[in-house]
Amino acid sequence: MKRAEIEITGIVQGIGFRPFIYNLAKTHSIRGWVLNNERGVFIDAESEDGNLKKFIRGIPALAPPLARIESFEVTHLEPIGYTTFEIRRSEEAQEKFVLISPDVATCDQCLSELCSSQDFRYRYPFINCTLCGPRFTIIKDIPYDRHKTTMASFTMCPVCQKEYEDPTDRRFHAQPNACPACGPSLRLEDRNGKEVPGDPIEMTLDLLAKGFIFALKGLGGFHLACDAKHQGAVSTLRSRKFREDKPFAVMCRDMEEVREHCEVGREEERLLSSVERPIVILSRKEDSAIAHAVAPYQNTLGVMLPYTPLHHLLLNGPLKALVMTSGNASDEPIAYKNEEAKSRLHNIADYFLVHNRDIHMRCDDSVTRVFEGRPYILRRSRGYVPFPIKLPFPVEMILACGGELKNSFCLTRGRYAFMSHHIGDLENLETLTSFEEGIEHFKKLFYIRPKAVSYDLHPDYLSTQHALSIEDIPKVGVQHHHAHIVSAMAENGIEGDVIGVALDGTGFGLDGTIWGGEFIKANLRNFDRLAHLKKVPMPGGSMAIKGPWRMAMVYLWEAFGDGTDALRIDLMRRVDLQKRNILKRMIEKEINTPWTSSMGRLFDAVSSLLSVRDEVHYEGQGAIELEMIADHALTEEYPFIIRKDGRPMVIDTTGIIRGVVGDLKQGISSSKISGKFHRTIAHLIIETCKAIRSEEELNRVVLSGGVFQNIFLLSLVRKSLEASGFEIYTHHLVPTNDGGISLGQAVIGHMRLFEGSD
Ligand SMILES: [Zn+2]
Ligand SMILES: [Zn+2]
Repeated sequence: MKRAEIEITGIVQGIGFRPFIYNLAKTHSIRGWVLNNERGVFIDAESEDGNLKKFIRGIPALAPPLARIESFEVTHLEPIGYTTFEIRRSEEAQEKFVLISPDVATCDQCLSELCSSQDFRYRYPFINCTLCGPRFTIIKDIPYDRHKTTMASFTMCPVCQKEYEDPTDRRFHAQPNACPACGPSLRLEDRNGKEVPGDPIEMTLDLLAKGFIFALKGLGGFHLACDAKHQGAVSTLRSRKFREDKPFAVMCRDMEEVREHCEVGREEERLLSSVERPIVILSRKEDSAIAHAVAPYQNTLGVMLPYTPLHHLLLNGPLKALVMTSGNASDEPIAYKNEEAKSRLHNIADYFLVHNRDIHMRCDDSVTRVFEGRPYILRRSRGYVPFPIKLPFPVEMILACGGELKNSFCLTRGRYAFMSHHIGDLENLETLTSFEEGIEHFKKLFYIRPKAVSYDLHPDYLSTQHALSIEDIPKVGVQHHHAHIVSAMAENGIEGDVIGVALDGTGFGLDGTIWGGEFIKANLRNFDRLAHLKKVPMPGGSMAIKGPWRMAMVYLWEAFGDGTDALRIDLMRRVDLQKRNILKRMIEKEINTPWTSSMGRLFDAVSSLLSVRDEVHYEGQGAIELEMIADHALTEEYPFIIRKDGRPMVIDTTGIIRGVVGDLKQGISSSKISGKFHRTIAHLIIETCKAIRSEEELNRVVLSGGVFQNIFLLSLVRKSLEASGFEIYTHHLVPTNDGGISLGQAVIGHMRLFEGSD
């Protein structure tokens, strides 16, 4: 006879772990007990040696899909002669810190019940169990118990209650457990709030097929939905949403339908059908029947599979693909409360399919793509949050406020970095409120009382202003690009000095100019700026970001001076002499004209030179469309110069602009010029890294910043760096765009305040 105590930590509560242990114990004739304590799950098990070994091996091997085992400790003890196996009452602790599961896609068992006419939950849109369903979005407070979720207002019927109390049942302690008799229900309304009679699902399917636009209440907020193959409906949605060219996501019935429209690799398939169910950006087939207006000017499509029972019901009928875009008008946060949605979306949606299970935390869909066979997360939100990023070492409790665009914040505790869901662009009161409420919620959920706050150096960011308004707490300002690089270092678990290549649109520099084409020597505490793109004026500030033609003119003047007006290229016809002169005067008189070394602005300039985009409707549009048209087969490049005489080194791109203009004059296609331009930028990155390596003896290169959302560029850079013997680190878990910088801010804040100097 043998006996062992087993302590398991990680995500092991509220996900069916105890019934799993109970059943596994029965299988192997184990006696003893299991309970949840403040650290995780604790088991006392006794049996013959062979059975006990099988039981212990079976726990990590067969654990429920949502479990994330962080530690697994076994201690052998003297047997004491247990006779049964039981689930004991949880130990109540003062401060019960446990990890909380993200919201999870409907599991296979619930799905088969949903589709079985014999089951009493047949076609019930809120079916769930301990293996699936809402979590993060319905939790109001901890511990995670039904009365502290938005399910509190529903009293379980005797059948549901029995499942909930039965340790052998899949719904044992499934907090959102419900059925048609006792749980939430759907309601279909027209835009005036009048209930539409009939079965809400049947009516919705009927109206969607006729081309109407719906606001659908989902897991983390409202979606705006319509038939993805109905040209008229999609165009109407686009015009009502004022979302000029920004691509919509599409939800497809199943993998077969996804393959109708897109190329799907093995890792993409895995990601699409994972429990996280993110949007995956796929390359689109030319003969796809998805309406053109879903993603104009794109050769990709953002696709996801159904992740709630309601989605399955809507896609099991005649419609195989629905547009599912976030329920907001262009720049606002996604709507998540019924009344709020009705008032904000009634000019966009014809009908509202709502329900009475409240969403406590809004949470947008996550967005990913696959890079070299691994997920590359561009927006980390539903399905991933609030699961923490594991840090290589423990840190103090820190609040990091993130950036301005695509904001996320981060709170740390020990080795856990809790990155928030996608908050959005912190440019209006509504988003700011969502940011502030989110921080308070995370502090409460994970018992975090920050000992310091870190923030971006940009004085105008609302996240910075929020950080500075917190009283009686040490504060650390972190340079934007340093935060990018340390964020990538932290998720890769590396320390020490590295070459950081941080390329993006905008980040406040130490000298008060706008940085964005930066090569830094960085560690987790400090950085040195070693090289950057040559600075150019940005006439009009943010106007120059919205209008890439301005940057094109600036770069032309840099390259051709007074000869610019005589250039016979199309841009000179689109920008008349008067416009040019106004711009020139702004630069000369330094009116609203900051200086920038941004790589994003160089991409903008080239996209305008190639007549791809003179004005953008969303961040990075010029660069994205430039990537779309790039010919990947070219080997030619444009010339550039790395000026090594001063420090930092300066990368002069005048030769690139001269080369692009030369090709334009010869009638070379935009696609070829874009391909050549991408190769040139990759080469420029490698040559700069080599120049740094020869002086600093650093061989590790960390790539971060929004520019690396460009997968064509990223793969060119990666291949050439590798061929030159560098060790390369990129993002995978955390976005390379500004959605990832809060992680770097938190780690730097900890190092500066709480670790001895290096
Ligand atoms: Zn389930
Ligand atoms: Zn019930």
